[in-house]
Amino acid sequence: VTYPILASVFILSLFAALFFAYGAVFKSSFWQNNKSKIYLTFAIWFISYALFIVFCTGPQDLSLYPPQVNSPYKLPWKAGVSRFVAQGNRSFTSHRDFHEYAWDFVMPNGTIVLAARAGRVGKIEDGFDGVGLNSNVLLIEHEDGAFSAYAHIRFHGALVKVGDLVQQGQPIALSGMVGQTIFPHLHFYVVNKDQTGSIPISFSDVPEGVPLAGHFYTSKNEEPR
Ligand SMILES: [Zn+2]
Repeated sequence: VTYPILASVFILSLFAALFFAYGAVFKSSFWQNNKSKIYLTFAIWFISYALFIVFCTGPQDLSLYPPQVNSPYKLPWKAGVSRFVAQGNRSFTSHRDFHEYAWDFVMPNGTIVLAARAGRVGKIEDGFDGVGLNSNVLLIEHEDGAFSAYAHIRFHGALVKVGDLVQQGQPIALSGMVGQTIFPHLHFYVVNKDQTGSIPISFSDVPEGVPLAGHFYTSKNEEPR
């Protein structure tokens, strides 16, 4: 219930704030005549935005996540490199519903993506290019039936073939900025075996197990020898 209400207040007050800002820029008397209204609108926008971020985004119930110790997943890039989480689980916009348990890891185009967990390559879609509706994705099926998904990879960026067995840490793709995205990143999530939605997971190389938006995390995922 809180989510739609806060989201509406946030979006409506943002439009009002933008309207006032527009007026203030084009008519100097506008600012003087409406100062208190403008401040109030910006305050409502800021407070609703802050409440929204604090209460309506991020992992809802950490007890749903499996323990970090012995997790079969590691961060999907080279050991020693730190990367920023632009969006975490249950984010402001796109990580909802099916994609609730997804992460956006910022990485430059062409970064080598490593398998977060061992498995068999189940599906590869890397024929799309450029920003648009269609996204590239590579799926790896695990022994328990779950699938890891690596999205927005580069045009022809897959480094493996369907059916290949991959080990944790093996290079599987080159990252990109293809599909529904405005910055280069890897959209990563794990889907349950019935493919009804993403599931909460932990990473063994993340200190608290679950990466959070706005933080940097350093991978310990080593390429197999
Ligand atoms: Zn994402």
